[in-house]
Amino acid sequence: MKSYRIATIPGDGIGKEVVPAGQEVLEALAAQTGRFTFEFENFVWGGDYYREHGVMMPADGLDAIRYKDAILFGSAGDPAIPDHITLWGLRLKICQGFDQYANVRPTRILPGIDGPLKRCGPADLDWVIVRENSEGEYSGVGGRAHQGHPIEVATDVSIMTRAGVERILRFAFRLAASRPRKRLTVITKSNAQRHAMVMWDEIALEISKEFPDVTWDKELVDAATARMVNRPATLDTIVATNLHADILSDLAAALAGSLGIAPTANLDPERRYPSMFEPIHGSAFDIMGMGLANPIGTFWSVVMMLEHLGEMDAARAVMAAIEHVTANPATHTGDLGGTATTRQVTDAVCAFLAAYSAQAPQVA
Ligand code: ATP
Repeated sequence: MKSYRIATIPGDGIGKEVVPAGQEVLEALAAQTGRFTFEFENFVWGGDYYREHGVMMPADGLDAIRYKDAILFGSAGDPAIPDHITLWGLRLKICQGFDQYANVRPTRILPGIDGPLKRCGPADLDWVIVRENSEGEYSGVGGRAHQGHPIEVATDVSIMTRAGVERILRFAFRLAASRPRKRLTVITKSNAQRHAMVMWDEIALEISKEFPDVTWDKELVDAATARMVNRPATLDTIVATNLHADILSDLAAALAGSLGIAPTANLDPERRYPSMFEPIHGSAFDIMGMGLANPIGTFWSVVMMLEHLGEMDAARAVMAAIEHVTANPATHTGDLGGTATTRQVTDAVCAFLAAYSAQAPQVA
């Protein structure tokens, strides 16, 4: 029987609640299918580790997870530690260390979710945002001089390489080609940023020739925000730089009804290293430890993990369970206007999976 080695890294805040919930769903799935198992190893890295050791994860941490089949991540963020330390010390260390250059964020309005766009039906918003995840504005290149003096200077240099842009655009075109509408929007700011962003446009045109069946267009990032709100149905697959897609995907999550639902995958498409799956929300310290966190973002991340592992039937089963649970207001958590707990939502998903397997054994 196939056994998948999964590293779980709950991190901080509600990550410590939603990752165990995700593990529970995977265990329930494995028990039902009887076709595969999961071998979990948990890594307690993050803010607490930082307080004890002065670093968010050990120096040889990447080696401990290098040979896993996938990583399930919670969140990194701690009110007592500067954000750039929590981000660079853990999440980005893994993303960059394992060259997970494609960040993929599907967005849909799930059944039963009341999104803020009143003129838009659920079918009008079905996007996948592809974010360049290895360079660009978050390359980490830059520095500070004259610190504390009036002439202090600071730079963050955005690095765009031809190889980096080609690989993310090729990934996005391929993903667009695999979706029913075969439509890609390439987002830049090539009117104001006339070097790297113009190179993006040029490379997009070159790569598009490899995908004649994909219809594609270009949009400036500022115009893209208005288009997402006013004409969501004109978008399907979207590709943008590290910074632009970071912002657009939070907007997308809000338009889909809640930050608590949205998932993300940090992929190494060449599979040299493990890929990492996580909800897009942060550590949400305001509700931490109360059992109120919405675990759906993590469950949808689990769906993406199963797809990446090639377990398509199992992925469909978990997605069906998620949609069943969101359709019922009794299993809505506080972020969706309900009163359900993390425990209740997790139990509802596991119960659906048990019934689903019984009804449709070919799926399990
Ligand atoms: P960080 O600094 O780690 O990014 P944050 O607390 O500033 O985290 P988020 O966690 O992204 O920001 O979310 C903002 C707010 O949205 C939270 O304070 C919380 O109230 C709500 N929220 C986010 N995720 C969830 C969730 N899974 N379930 C319920 N509420 C959530």
